Amino acid sequence: MFVFKAAVVGAGTMGGEIAQAIAASDIPVVLKDIDQKFVDHGLEKAREVTKGQLDRLVKKEKLTQEQADTRLEQVLGLIEGTTSYDSFGDVDFVIEAAPEKMEIKQRVFAELDEVTPGHAILASNTSSLSISEMGEATLRPEKVVGFHFFYPASVMPLVEVIEGADTDPEVTQTAYNFAQTIKKQPITCGEVPGFVVNRILNSAVGEIWRAQEEQGLSIKKIDEAVAAANVAPMGPFFLVDLLGLDTVMHVAEHLQESYGDSFYVHKGMQQLVADGKLGAKSGGSGFYENGEPQIEGDADPDGEALAELMKLKAIVEACLVLQEGVCTVRDTDLGMMAGAGMDPRRGIMPPFMGADMLGLDVVLEKLERAQEEHGERFAPPTVLKRLVAQGRLGQKSGQGFYAYPQADEGEQTETVKLETRGAVAIAWLANPPMNAISPQVIKDLAAVWEKVTGSGDYGAMVIASSNPVVFSAGADIKAFTQMDEAGGKELIDSGHALLRDLGSNRVSTVAAVNSLAFGGGCELAMACDFRIGAYSAVFGQPEVKLGIIPGFGGTQRLPRLVGASKALEMNLIGDAISSGEAEAYGLVSRIVPDHELFDTALAWARKLAGQAPVAVEKVKQASTDPDLDEGIENEKAAFASAFQSEDAKEGISAFLGKRSARWQGK
Ligand code: NAD
Repeated sequence: MFVFKAAVVGAGTMGGEIAQAIAASDIPVVLKDIDQKFVDHGLEKAREVTKGQLDRLVKKEKLTQEQADTRLEQVLGLIEGTTSYDSFGDVDFVIEAAPEKMEIKQRVFAELDEVTPGHAILASNTSSLSISEMGEATLRPEKVVGFHFFYPASVMPLVEVIEGADTDPEVTQTAYNFAQTIKKQPITCGEVPGFVVNRILNSAVGEIWRAQEEQGLSIKKIDEAVAAANVAPMGPFFLVDLLGLDTVMHVAEHLQESYGDSFYVHKGMQQLVADGKLGAKSGGSGFYENGEPQIEGDADPDGEALAELMKLKAIVEACLVLQEGVCTVRDTDLGMMAGAGMDPRRGIMPPFMGADMLGLDVVLEKLERAQEEHGERFAPPTVLKRLVAQGRLGQKSGQGFYAYPQADEGEQTETVKLETRGAVAIAWLANPPMNAISPQVIKDLAAVWEKVTGSGDYGAMVIASSNPVVFSAGADIKAFTQMDEAGGKELIDSGHALLRDLGSNRVSTVAAVNSLAFGGGCELAMACDFRIGAYSAVFGQPEVKLGIIPGFGGTQRLPRLVGASKALEMNLIGDAISSGEAEAYGLVSRIVPDHELFDTALAWARKLAGQAPVAVEKVKQASTDPDLDEGIENEKAAFASAFQSEDAKEGISAFLGKRSARWQGK
């Protein structure tokens, strides 16, 4: 499923900015509303956002004013404002952003079903309504999916891709890839009230609301204390003024109706909404007016205690999301980072990472105390108790919700850290920020491998990532382009020799793919004997998008694993596939929940390490397709010729310059 043309229905607060994000990624988009004045407003918004983005590039001297002016018209030229469905006959992806009422949504979906081609994906930006119910209004419920942006859509990177009861996994994957194409950070989740981010955020902020009303606390002092305690980017009352009290109240009420009293609705907020005081959108009067609190209460809050309540409630809710199978560990944390502004670089930790850092035993103890003091809504979740029972206490024990390297003492290489546990070695990729496969990584991995295979002490090696959200994003393109021809050839040869040995040595190899494995990262995983994937793993060979081809065996090992046709598709289209699809095609041996990945990979390695070494070696060598070496030689020649082409130069410079490439076929 490919998206050549998109549409947005509803040009209100969200619609105009969503259309802008699509057009700014060079995809034509139709923006429809029921009245021309709303369409014009949406177009104006798109102009304002695009201009702001380009102005910043001019200021940074990345564009001249003239280039920015041309680009502005180019982007806006891709948005067609309309009040009719006339241009919907060839759209591939529609995002409905009409008012949050099921009757309206169902009417729009029924209309869209009639005016768009049968293959088109119909997505909704709903914050709270059922995707499955919208699907019921169409003859294609399998092509209906949630596509939830965060306000303001031009700034917030997150898109929650929500699977309805009938949504086809391929549709989910296309929506995920489309979100990446328009430079957003997608996460996938199940259809539950509040989805992931609003649910966790509301659950946590509700504790502040409750404390404020029960103890008559000053909202101003709360906002100051929460911001200072580094649990959220800004104080909760100040934030709600920006978002709109009515919007936040509807979500909060909906969540309380759905989940019960563990969610709290601030009564003062309900009163303000009844009085028409909605925050910034109603002229600035909301929780504050001219900087003065409009809610009674002047008691001093205990900032630390409030911050702790928020953190504890967030981890409880995040665990429930995980236990219900709504979302994975990684996607939940990514969602809180990209949708709720939790930025580990600023010390604001998303729930699972934060719990791992604090220590899961400590979190469990704190929850038990909070449960006694505040009641069942703080009851420690099963998954947390289970991890503590396993001795998985977070960063300090090497494993919690995520796995962490506990490198052996003594000399270590720069980018690959060796840890040994009995007969199993673990090679941790540690090349921040994206674990790019650089010349140094190849050198270091070769050194680690030599140590492991040379000692005779180890029967298996796991390759894992020390980055909780990336396995490896691919080859370090910049470093490769800076090498001379001889250096490049030597690197390719030694890289191939290493990968070949991973698959033929008597030491068995298991790749523990936690997340993104693209390009060289995917090829490294494929060179191992087995791949175990986390639910959050995604695989892809996107080289073709840069005008080059896979250079570390992608044209050879991929067809051997997934079949010629699927491999050709992945290598020629370049889009990512999910862990589920990877398992269905045989690219991975097993997929497991994120927080079970490392244990599973270790268990495989332990089992393999106990097998007879000579037999392992002979089986591996006898199973290798005799044509593999010849195929790799062919790939080397093809890679060199593609890499030296004009198209490769253009593709790489477009990639590094974040623009679309123009191919000449030279
Ligand atoms: P809005 O009221 O600002 O805009 C809705 C637009 O839809 C209006 O311009 C309206 O004229 C138009 N419309 C109504 N009926 C229509 C129809 N039949 N066909 C075409 N257009 C129609 O609403 P919004 O805040 O942009 O929210 C839109 C959707 O996005 C809602 O589902 C909302 O829950 C969701 N959302 C909103 C936010 C937010 O912060 N505002 C954040 C995330 C998601």
